[in-house]
Amino acid sequence: MTVGHDDVVGWIRAFAAVVEDNRAYLTKLDSAIGDADHGSNLHRGFQAVVAKLEGTEENDVGKTLKTVGMTLVSKVGGAGGPLYGTLFMQMGGPLTGKAEVTPQEFAAALESGVKGVQARGKAELEDKTMLDALLPAVDAISSSLATGANLQEALERAAEAAAKGMEATTPMVAKKGRASYLGERSAGHQDPGATSSYLLLKAASDTLSKVA
Ligand code: ADP
Ligand code: MG
Repeated sequence: MTVGHDDVVGWIRAFAAVVEDNRAYLTKLDSAIGDADHGSNLHRGFQAVVAKLEGTEENDVGKTLKTVGMTLVSKVGGAGGPLYGTLFMQMGGPLTGKAEVTPQEFAAALESGVKGVQARGKAELEDKTMLDALLPAVDAISSSLATGANLQEALERAAEAAAKGMEATTPMVAKKGRASYLGERSAGHQDPGATSSYLLLKAASDTLSKVA
């Protein structure tokens, strides 16, 4: 059971479609504690990513993930674009030169991507950011695989952990990003970036599970 290049492209395309469907919702969340552009930012970025992947002859999972990341960095301003760009670029690093990857390699690469987000944004758990969805998700994948789960089960648990992490951002006071300018007034609203990160994990669970 391995994840091939087409499977990874399928995940990215599925997420682009989910972002399109949730564009208004993500922007609405960002209007409460930010500047109302998270949905449109991600949509613009992932439309460019899909166009870039169209008809590609590439077969290298790592290279393709790096292309996804670089496209996001070049097309999306603000915090969200460069942070998602970093996630995919750093995830691609360990997978460079591979046309297919094992569940363990996939999980380790995702973890390296999330570490990249952390290094770039300097946010910790409970700062009310995308990391509140991403960190529990990578923990869930690694611990599930380590205890004998297959990729499908591991991704389902990761999506569940990301959902819980996303919901947990609501009462939090933001410590990083634009929402932190609101101080205590940022509490009572779900973080837009944690929401899009949950959707990314859910898209992985929905699409890559079929690999298993
Ligand atoms: P901007 O805040 O520049 O308008 P977006 O609206 O696209 O960018 O993205 C906002 C999201 O980015 C927030 O909801 C939060 O999850 C995430 N974010 C902001 N700053 C950081 C950071 N330092 N580390 C991790 N995530 C962050
Ligand atoms: Mg914004």
